[in-house]
Amino acid sequence: MSISLHLLPIGEVPRELVLALEPGLSRAFGPLLRKVSLGLPMEVPLEAYNPRRGQYNANVMLRYILERMGGSVLAITGVDLYVPSLNFVFGLAQCPGRGALVSIHRLDPKFYGGQESLSTLLDRITKEAVHELGHVFGLAHCRDRECVMSFSNSIVEVDIKSPRFCNSCWRKLIKKNRCSKS
Ligand SMILES: [Zn+2]
Ligand SMILES: [Zn+2]
Repeated sequence: MSISLHLLPIGEVPRELVLALEPGLSRAFGPLLRKVSLGLPMEVPLEAYNPRRGQYNANVMLRYILERMGGSVLAITGVDLYVPSLNFVFGLAQCPGRGALVSIHRLDPKFYGGQESLSTLLDRITKEAVHELGHVFGLAHCRDRECVMSFSNSIVEVDIKSPRFCNSCWRKLIKKNRCSKS
């Protein structure tokens, strides 16, 4: 299976940043990614907002997006995401499925009081985007801390991992998504 992926900005997200993900995604997925294109931006869905937490429910937002958009989708948003069992999430994906969502909110060095750095931000978004798309392609979490499929609970863990799959995850990825007869 090789997919054609729509990159979808949700709310205020710089287009250039979203487009800049393409090379990293192509490097990570190789032949599994046939085409990457920029979709029309979508408003942040208000129904996903939880005023008590001041955050957006990632499950609600992903469902909202997939109800309105066909094909394989990687949505990028600037707002802070959570799932009910966690304080926050960097992203969420169907596993396997066709949709992934990444928030740049806590990937930005400025969130931690650091200097603005587009290259650091892009590295981090790329890793989380590859991670979430790995789930879309059916991969589970990996215990190799340098593998892109390792689960990140903090920005330190995001920075430790590489933007690539370990050999074991890469083999699983190819095996799960090998083209069948057609
Ligand atoms: Zn994950
Ligand atoms: Zn791995």
